[in-house]
Amino acid sequence: MNSNIQILPVQNSRIDTVDFNNLPFGTLFSDHMFTCDYKDGKWQNPTIKAYGPIELNPSAKIFHYGQSIFEGMKAYKDADLNTLLFRPLDNCKRLNKSAERMVIPQIPEELFMDGLKKLLEIDNAWIPTNEGSSLYIRPFVFASGNGFHASPATEYKFIIATAPSGAYFAGKVKVLIEEKYARAANGGVGFAKAGGNYAAQFYPTQLAIEKGYNQVIWTDDTSHEYIEEAGAMNIFVRINDTLVTSPTSDRILDGITRKSIIQIAKDNDIDVEVRKITVKEVVESAKNGTLKEMFGAGTAAVISPISSFGFKEQDFDLPELNNSYASQLKKRITDIQTNKTEDPYGWRVQL
Ligand SMILES: *Cc1c(COP(=O)(O)O)cnc(C)c1O
Repeated sequence: MNSNIQILPVQNSRIDTVDFNNLPFGTLFSDHMFTCDYKDGKWQNPTIKAYGPIELNPSAKIFHYGQSIFEGMKAYKDADLNTLLFRPLDNCKRLNKSAERMVIPQIPEELFMDGLKKLLEIDNAWIPTNEGSSLYIRPFVFASGNGFHASPATEYKFIIATAPSGAYFAGKVKVLIEEKYARAANGGVGFAKAGGNYAAQFYPTQLAIEKGYNQVIWTDDTSHEYIEEAGAMNIFVRINDTLVTSPTSDRILDGITRKSIIQIAKDNDIDVEVRKITVKEVVESAKNGTLKEMFGAGTAAVISPISSFGFKEQDFDLPELNNSYASQLKKRITDIQTNKTEDPYGWRVQL
């Protein structure tokens, strides 16, 4: 450990107030957080202290220009109570890709990993052991520096906060294929986990919810003819026995769950195609019965099956399958994450 993290442990843990058999998702927070400040051109004061409010000036640039990025990851306990992470360096790399696009300083990999490991050590008891539960981890960086100039800040905060969370169960998801709005554009920031991307999704999603759907299927910004993502998840479509997902791009986020699923599917003799998916082929295959499954993929829910989709005032139901790709792949990936099976890929990291 070279990051010289100052540790200020809480006097009274809140852990006794938590019902680990009834965990919400992402709304209850562990005792501690990791914080680090960027000032005078360098990261400094790495500290672990009580999770709690942070003081900012009203002219902090985060409020005005939205210079803000984040990651989402999980820690698990295996049967022997070892703490496990899943591909954590990929999260660090992606955070830095997002940082570059938003002119936020790079986070050294060592600082990211040291802060994370130390935080998980101190809040070890907050990592749930129940089936399906995990410690959701939210690393984020934002402009804390001041000024009404529309220019990058000179000061930033890097924080890691965690939330013991139950299984993210969205139920049967009804989605609406978006024909007007877009979450991302060519040359834009859709590939980055930048705060503003999600703010921009809320309005079209709210309109979809008012129409009785749960989530929006994003299409490309110019023609709306190609299916790109499912809410804040990557999308997979199964036509006959082939699993198809869109290639990543400026507009499509390079999900760690997505790329893990592609690998696992291929290694389990599932035909996988990474190519553009047209709305037309999805609608036509729904009509002729070859559309078997659609699901979203992301860290929070892992895999979120879609039960029906709406397009141009018409709803299309997906069949109920036994032994769906969604359930097979979800089991395979969570078994790797929680050390119930061998990890031939070296994705699992034991602390
Ligand atoms: C985070 C995210 C994903 C999923 O990425 P994972 O690394 O699998 O969690 C997909 N799409 C968007 C828009 C996202 O923000």
